[in-house]
Amino acid sequence: MLNPKTGINRDFDSFTLMDHHNDMRAMLPTMKFDTARPSFYLLNIGETHYPYAKPGEDSSMWPRISGVNGVFKKMDEAVDAQGNLVKDQTQFFDQAKLDQLRERQIDTVRYLDGVFQELFDLVPKNTHIVITADHGELFGEMGYFGHGPIMHDKCFEVPYLEGKIR
Ligand SMILES: [Zn+2]
Repeated sequence: MLNPKTGINRDFDSFTLMDHHNDMRAMLPTMKFDTARPSFYLLNIGETHYPYAKPGEDSSMWPRISGVNGVFKKMDEAVDAQGNLVKDQTQFFDQAKLDQLRERQIDTVRYLDGVFQELFDLVPKNTHIVITADHGELFGEMGYFGHGPIMHDKCFEVPYLEGKIR
């Protein structure tokens, strides 16, 4: 989701764009640790982003949303699997679809629990790990879907876990 010019992403020794935005597990073998010098890694994980797909999962049934970083009240502009612009009010996610999307996001978190376990097994002893998010997500609250730029409590509701678990 980030590029080398994104504010939080500057001044690292290196930047790697992964082949797929939603495959945290593929990042793990790329991590190298130097015993003489501590390392700092920022892993931007895409699984929990719309369309909340696990690696290799076919998510083509979910419309590609232009400007996915924004928030939608009426999703009257989307791109279908063939790349055609769809301007059809019936494309808007109803609450049943939004509930399904929320479940999909929870499912990616459940999946990532296992990948984080692999990360904890991989890092050197005394590694401090912080798990957080840059925003929450709206699934129909006040009729919105997505996140920012909107000042809604749910957009500020993020996980925050930190520590040396092992
Ligand atoms: Zn994000």
